[in-house]
This record gives sequence, structure tokens and C-alpha cells, in this order.
Amino acid sequence: MSPTLFNLPEVPSIPVVDEEHCYPIGRIFCVGRNYAAHAAEMGNEVDREAPFYFTKSAANAVLSGTVAPYPPGTENYHHEMELAVALGAPLFRARPEQARDAIFGYGAALDMTRRDLQGQAKDKRRPWDLGKDLEQGSVFGPLTPTANWDGPAHKRIWLTVDGEMRQDANLDEMIWSVEDILCHLSRYYHLRPGDIVLTGTPAGVGAVNAGAVVEGEIEGLSPVQLTLSPAE
Ligand code: MN
Repeated sequence: MSPTLFNLPEVPSIPVVDEEHCYPIGRIFCVGRNYAAHAAEMGNEVDREAPFYFTKSAANAVLSGTVAPYPPGTENYHHEMELAVALGAPLFRARPEQARDAIFGYGAALDMTRRDLQGQAKDKRRPWDLGKDLEQGSVFGPLTPTANWDGPAHKRIWLTVDGEMRQDANLDEMIWSVEDILCHLSRYYHLRPGDIVLTGTPAGVGAVNAGAVVEGEIEGLSPVQLTLSPAE
């Protein structure tokens, strides 16, 4: 291969529980409005016809434990706690059992959001990129291989900010199951190892300020944590 003109910052790879190799991040697909109570708090009806998606750049992903500055261009930076599903095999036009077999593992993740910019984009029927695909805007806790977790059924998902409970729900509340999402998404993409799906956030999203410590957990998985640098 020809030498490149310059080097890009390295995309982080996600640690895997009890495994020496890390999971390299390929693409990040995010499901919108996958919990009815969250759709309601955002003033939306749930679309039960099909899930919908937006994407976040791998280049903007960081690992749990990161200390990030409060991002530019927003006055309403929000946490969204989500189950991350990491693929370990190719998947195209999949049936549910194929989808299940293609999952490498699961993790706790944050879909951080510039809510004011997302809202403005919605009002003007523009894309959500400025609101969603921001630097250090997706945060990944260590992954647990499928064989070592008996979820996602019946598992609690929750998030605290500075120790105060903000989101507290159950993965059973997802409108579209993990299999539903993978089957649907694989109609549009040749999914492959490295692809990660963030499966939507439960109700209770809210603002975080400079200096905040955001901690999210899913029963049986490693937690995810993000600290925002204190205001200067
Ligand atoms: Mn989300």
C-alpha cells in the first residue's frame, strides 16, 4: 500500500471482559425511539412500522473512563444510556436465529447528544449530525461475549449523574428487540464484525454540566463512565 500523507488519530478498540484482544470499532449504528416512555418524553409518537437509525463516527468514539471537555456549540448536553450490541460475523438479509448467532457480545454505552442542536435540526427537517455525531460523543464500556451473559432479557439498565439516578428501566421495554433490529438493519447494510448497534435509550434523558460524572450500568455487564471536565 502507498504511504499516506499523514496519520489519523487512532480509533479506540473496546476491551473485552476476560479476553486479551480488544474489539475494534468499525461502524456505529444507533436506533431512535426504541423505548415508548422515551419517545413520549421527547414529544414523539412511537413508529411501530419499522425502526429508524442514525450513525455516529468511530473516530468520535471513546472508552469508558474518559474525561472529556463540555462540547462546543451546545447549552443542553444530554446523556442517553444504551445497550450496545457488537457483531462478530457478517450479516445480510438475516433471519432472527442468524442475527443471534452473529452477535459477538454486549456492552454498556452512552449516546451523548447536543439536544438543543438535535431539536433545531428536527424543527427544520435537517439531519441530526451536529446533535449526535460529536467528538467524544459515544462512550463504550468493556464488552462481554454473548456466552458470558444471559441478557438482554429481563436486565435492568440505569444511569446516574453525580450519584443521582436519572434513568432506570429494563431492557424488556425495548420496542424492537436486538434480533428485530439486526434483521431490519441487515436489509440495508452488509453488516460485519466491528459493527456496533446502540439500541436506543429509555426515559429519563437529561442535561449534564461541566464537572459531572456520568455512570451507566446494565445488570451483568461492565459499567460505562464519562466525566466532563470542570468549567474553567
Ligand atoms: Mn440514543
